[in-house]
Amino acid sequence: MNPKVLKTYHLDEFNSFSLSSVAEYFCSICCSEDLRYALDFASRNNLDITILGEGTNVILNQKIPGLVLKIDIKGKTFKQEGQEIVVEVGAGESWPSLVDWTLGKSWYGLENLSLIPGTAGAAPIQNIGAFGVELSERLISVKAVFRATGETIEIGADECDFGYRHSRFKRNGAGTHVITAIKLRLYKQAKLNYSYPSLKQALLDKLGTMTDDNLSPRLISDTVKQLRQKNLPDPVHWPNAGSFFKNPIVDREHLNDLLASHPKLPYFPVADDLAKVPAAWMIDHCNFRGYKYKNVGVHKSHALVLVNYGSGSFSEIVELSDLIKNSVEKYFSVRLIIEPTLYGID
Ligand SMILES: Cc1cc2nc3c(=O)[nH]c(=O)nc-3n(C[C@H](O)[C@H](O)[C@H](O)COP(=O)(O)OP(=O)(O)OC[C@H]3O[C@@H](n4cnc5c(N)ncnc54)[C@H](O)[C@@H]3O)c2cc1C
Repeated sequence: MNPKVLKTYHLDEFNSFSLSSVAEYFCSICCSEDLRYALDFASRNNLDITILGEGTNVILNQKIPGLVLKIDIKGKTFKQEGQEIVVEVGAGESWPSLVDWTLGKSWYGLENLSLIPGTAGAAPIQNIGAFGVELSERLISVKAVFRATGETIEIGADECDFGYRHSRFKRNGAGTHVITAIKLRLYKQAKLNYSYPSLKQALLDKLGTMTDDNLSPRLISDTVKQLRQKNLPDPVHWPNAGSFFKNPIVDREHLNDLLASHPKLPYFPVADDLAKVPAAWMIDHCNFRGYKYKNVGVHKSHALVLVNYGSGSFSEIVELSDLIKNSVEKYFSVRLIIEPTLYGID
């Protein structure tokens, strides 16, 4: 049976910023046939397409012209290859549930990525990452429909142009492919990564000393969850889209200039000549933490998270983000880049 294409569909519950937004057309995609039908519907009616997972990394304007495809493709399969497990997951599966499911099966590799909201299919879009691990380190390939030709293709991780919160599917490549599944490589033998400073400290606080015997993927996952729950505002109470800005990466010369005027600026080397500087630190230093602007604001305990106080709008968020960007640029000569993707019109 063909999926229903619904007209004038409210998306308020499909974006974690709780913005009021209406799709011209909306279709829930549960399988490849649904997708084929919906893409054909869009092309017959000359409609633009917007792809949506759980809406935790989008900022939606009042109207989304064209057809919104909500990706609800479920299913998990796996095969064992020696000490490794190859897991194939439908794009509409919940990412945090997937992480818990793999840990429940004693398959390791995703523990640092616990509790990141959203769908599995959206995970490659910005190469989700947390606590020192990025999806690209576990991804084998994505299965996708290439919209220009309608072909179903498999794209290897090495062809995804992954970087920090970046892939070929973001920015210029946004919407060119509809991801239907992802394939991950996990391990029966844990290879723990607890080098990320706040994770390491939290583990030390719990354990006193860390040994091979008292560390486990489950403990890392639990600790990551506790840190996230403590530090990040829950979108249920404080509608938000996680980190609103990417952490800027600057070259050595720029870093030296910044350190000359701001000796306490933290930084993390990412390559020989490049360092990542925390956007939150800079935003905090521009006195935006806890700042309220109309019906939106910067969360009081996390300067990187913009929140909707209830009746906030797309334009208020954009205005606030411009205020922050201009202030940070003036003070630090760094232009912040917005992490979520903006969609729609007034
Ligand atoms: C509280 C909170 C904490 C967060 N913490 C982190 C974090 O620690 N690390 C991190 O990396 N991110 C984090 N995020 C961001 C977000 O969780 C991820 O980006 C997540 O992958 C988005 O999934 P989604 O299904 O909600 O995607 P959506 O928000 O629905 O979509 C995001 C983008 O992906 C595209 N897209 C979605 N599904 C598909 C598909 N199947 N095919 C093609 N394109 C698609 C959309 O068009 C859109 O451009 C956080 C967000 C919140 C709200």
